[in-house]
Amino acid sequence: MMKGLGVSDGYGIGRVMLILDQKLDYTPREIADVDAEIARFHDAIDQFTKNTLEQADAVRKSTGDKEAEILEGHIAIIADPFMKGEIENLIKAHQCAETAVEQICQMFIDMFTATGDDLTMQRAADVKDIRDSLLAILLGVQEVKISDAPEGTVLVVRELTPSMTAGIKKENIVGIIAETGSQTSHSAILARAMEIPAVLSVPNALSQLSSGEQIIVDGFNGDVVTAPAQDTLDEYVAKRDTFLREKRELELYRGKPTVSASGETYELCCNIGTPKDAAKAMEKDGEGVGLFRTEFLFMDRTALPTEDEQFEAYKTAAVVLKGKPLIIRTLDIGGDKEIPYLGLEKEENPFMGFRAIRYCLKHRDMFKSQIKAILRASAFGDVRIMFPLITAVEELREGKALVEEAKSDLRASGIEFNENIPVGVMTETSASGVIADLLAKEADFFSIGTNDLTGYTMACDRGNSDVGYLYSPFQPSVLRLIKSIIENGVRAGIPVGMCGEAAANPMMVPLLISFGLTEFSVSAVSVLKVRKCIANWTKDEADKVAEKVMSMATEKEITDYLKTVI
Ligand code: PEP
Ligand code: MG
Repeated sequence: MMKGLGVSDGYGIGRVMLILDQKLDYTPREIADVDAEIARFHDAIDQFTKNTLEQADAVRKSTGDKEAEILEGHIAIIADPFMKGEIENLIKAHQCAETAVEQICQMFIDMFTATGDDLTMQRAADVKDIRDSLLAILLGVQEVKISDAPEGTVLVVRELTPSMTAGIKKENIVGIIAETGSQTSHSAILARAMEIPAVLSVPNALSQLSSGEQIIVDGFNGDVVTAPAQDTLDEYVAKRDTFLREKRELELYRGKPTVSASGETYELCCNIGTPKDAAKAMEKDGEGVGLFRTEFLFMDRTALPTEDEQFEAYKTAAVVLKGKPLIIRTLDIGGDKEIPYLGLEKEENPFMGFRAIRYCLKHRDMFKSQIKAILRASAFGDVRIMFPLITAVEELREGKALVEEAKSDLRASGIEFNENIPVGVMTETSASGVIADLLAKEADFFSIGTNDLTGYTMACDRGNSDVGYLYSPFQPSVLRLIKSIIENGVRAGIPVGMCGEAAANPMMVPLLISFGLTEFSVSAVSVLKVRKCIANWTKDEADKVAEKVMSMATEKEITDYLKTVI
């Protein structure tokens, strides 16, 4: 048995196909004819672009737009004048194209890796993929043909690259194992999008496994079972069949309203990061967007997006949603979300530092331009504004004052917007939970961000494995805050949603029903699962469970009990 990180749900039972790294060895040489070498480099880029466009096309058909865009992004990276220019400069200094490509790509890989930031480190994986493809073209090395993999194949790779994914035929690949990768890496995103069970970060998988051997991939808990005995095999076949049957059964909930067994109706929305995700949310039957994380519009670029660029993005999402609610969270920069060009100073305690609403209120021009963009988009749908990381009433007041300023600017310019746009608070700090009664008087809605609420309440960093045992939304302290936030919202007559990961946890659902939550916002893939879960509970049953849970003293007691009732 080997262990890794389960990143894409499901059980894969099949035979191993090892994808070994290609031999990209060459002898660096001095070249005399610089122009001819630059032409060779340009030919390689042309070939790379052609291959990549073909791959993106295949991925768009098999998997989706978002995944195809990852590949198309590779063309943009190599076409970047700076990167391309640096490679040409090395060739002009008489280095061969292979050396120039390798050295400059390495420089970018080192630079991106050094940030330690998950998203920026993804760029390093992209550049590695580009480097290997360009070298393979320059050296005339044949790329591995994953598309030839037979039915029932478990792919074992060092790193699952976007270009590899292009060759995957979903009907033939039953599992993926990679030596590298995390929950948020491209490999994980791609595996989930293709709905192939995947386990990443399995050390030495390539050297420990052999092509053709039978293997089981447990994408839930990250187990890789080698040489399975017949009874283990039978057990996993049964688990796989149940999983697939339940997945099919979820389809019964498509197109239906979200209603509890006793008839209360809920809003079941999605969390998104780009306007494209809004389409995905609709495709997965979401009833709106409960959290649009706007950071993604600010990342992957070298300067701030303009008001017009932001407006286009927000408007696109609003139009796609056709009048369904769209809660846009203003910039939540800092902490785990870095935007290098803003030049934020390194802080001792970034999660407690100069971030989110705090940063925005001190950079009013930037903030106002985002608010104006959101207001302009409000003419195209049911758009709402949400402020992240609120800890004090003054922050909400200042934010709302800026919304009013932005409104009068737009009015003066004769630009349309919704005069009554709701302005809400993301309750994700313990402070906001404690003063929920005060905030509820001045906010139009609440949305509980349990990801941060748990970390701040338990004073523990979810990424730190030494304190990970404390990081649970089922800690009595966190549950008390959740209950109090919801009850204070209900008392003040405002809607209360939850957009943290906990909203999709079946053990949390009865508690939220009992406390009076009105909206669940979850990832698009969880919509049907949560709808089914809500349908299982009557308000009375949920109340009984919640009463019992709220009398318990420890997280273990609570989760042990909840496991028995779901
Ligand atoms: C949260 O904190 O729960 C949340 C939804 O926001 P994010 O994960 O973007 O911090
Ligand atoms: Mg948060």
